[in-house]
Amino acid sequence: MDLGPVAMRKPDVAGITKQLDQMGAKKILLQLPDGLKPEAFELFSKLSARYSVIISSDPFYGACDAGTVESYREVDCIVQLGHSPIPNLHYPKPMIFEEFLVDNNVEVDPSTFEVLRSRGYRRIGLLFSVQYKDVAEGIRNILLKTGFEPLIGPVDGRMKYPGQVLGCNFSAAHLISDDAECFLVVSTGKFHAIGVQLSTEKETFLLDLNSRSIESVSRETDEFLRKRYARISRALDAENFCIVMDTKIGQYREKLAYVVKEQVEGMGKNAIMLKTSEVRPSDYENLRCDAIVFTGCPRVSIDDEEKFKMPILTPPEFQRLFGFKKTRNYIMDEIVAVDQIN
Ligand code: SF4
Repeated sequence: MDLGPVAMRKPDVAGITKQLDQMGAKKILLQLPDGLKPEAFELFSKLSARYSVIISSDPFYGACDAGTVESYREVDCIVQLGHSPIPNLHYPKPMIFEEFLVDNNVEVDPSTFEVLRSRGYRRIGLLFSVQYKDVAEGIRNILLKTGFEPLIGPVDGRMKYPGQVLGCNFSAAHLISDDAECFLVVSTGKFHAIGVQLSTEKETFLLDLNSRSIESVSRETDEFLRKRYARISRALDAENFCIVMDTKIGQYREKLAYVVKEQVEGMGKNAIMLKTSEVRPSDYENLRCDAIVFTGCPRVSIDDEEKFKMPILTPPEFQRLFGFKKTRNYIMDEIVAVDQIN
């Protein structure tokens, strides 16, 4: 039964204003995720009563993306809604993150989790994307009361909260993978849960908050692997590679890009280096490359693969395909830290 979308909270304008006043900000850049764009007029009107406000209409991906230099050069502060900061990132301007926008009073019937027990699982690795942090805390309490042992993993320097996952970082899962019998992910979409299953090789369940039900993503993970291998193996015959660096501050991996370049050239193939702030498939068509290795957000290679005429690989996919990483298993591309853009 679909119980409808989880209610969103209104952004805490008073809290944002307090922080802006404390830092003495006068001009601000506002970054809104798509889900909050309907609030743009109201937010603009409230904040512009006190500050000079510009809303970024550029596509905006996450806390890894503080916008372009042109958009933030003149402002005192960037206010970003819907994400948590990436702690080990050096932001170019003071940032205010308004993180939790999901109503935390989501009721989930304790019987929902019986499917975990029926599969013989008791020690459950509990993970969440940041919007659902408070919801996950409620789920943890239900699991405890119903005889499970929920485990919340510590995280690396890219993540703020224990148990938090991003599409490019599953450290909270790795660090408890030996103890957890399975994982339960509170998130939207299946990408995070599939990523957890791939990177831990433990069965992973997604809690769908619309239907208040949980489902294993094992079938989708197998499907993902089948499709992905078919796609990337087309790069085996490639001669000309584009190695692409994304200049978003939290996606910039120059050192890795040059490692890949050397590996391509070491095989006697050709590589050119490219920088972009926005990956558009058509930009690569005239370059006549046979394959792209994209070192920015791992989701671009995976989510947008069908938009590209040539295979687009993450760095670990390239390295595994050509034998630079010796493993039989698929390796998720995870970002632990990035390079500073000079
Ligand atoms: S790199 Fe991709 S997955 Fe990671 S925070 Fe940015 S948009 Fe999200």
